[in-house]
Amino acid sequence: MLSVAHGPTGALIASKIPNPLISIPIIIASHFIEDYIPHWDVGQGLTSKKKQKKTAFFQELFFDFPLSILIIYFLFQVGRPFDWRPWLGWFVGLLPDFIEFPYLFLGHRNPLLNGFARFHSIVHRSTPHKLWGLLPQLLVLLLVVLLK
Ligand SMILES: [Zn+2]
Repeated sequence: MLSVAHGPTGALIASKIPNPLISIPIIIASHFIEDYIPHWDVGQGLTSKKKQKKTAFFQELFFDFPLSILIIYFLFQVGRPFDWRPWLGWFVGLLPDFIEFPYLFLGHRNPLLNGFARFHSIVHRSTPHKLWGLLPQLLVLLLVVLLK
């Protein structure tokens, strides 16, 4: 899914479960569960070569990624004293994708991460249909807003 879905999910879990030893594995699991739901993301079309890496990179860098930061800020930070837990949750929620970025955009993969990358691609299900691919992510965001 997009960072705007993974990040807020991680922030929600981290804000509800204060112990990072418990919340971090749950957040990592939530990433893979969300990726298993067919979705549209900026990487859609890269493997079929319908989209250039540069386009996906800029969509991530200038849209999805900063928007995920703004969502965390407005949902979990505005009007409250600084709390590191939602930010840790945001980071951990995105961590599996951060690990993939060097391979996706630079073609470099650390051989130690081959097993991780294989698992990530096995559970990752996407759809080229933007409407049906964005709808589950909107629902995720709605759930985060309702449960926070
Ligand atoms: Zn992912």
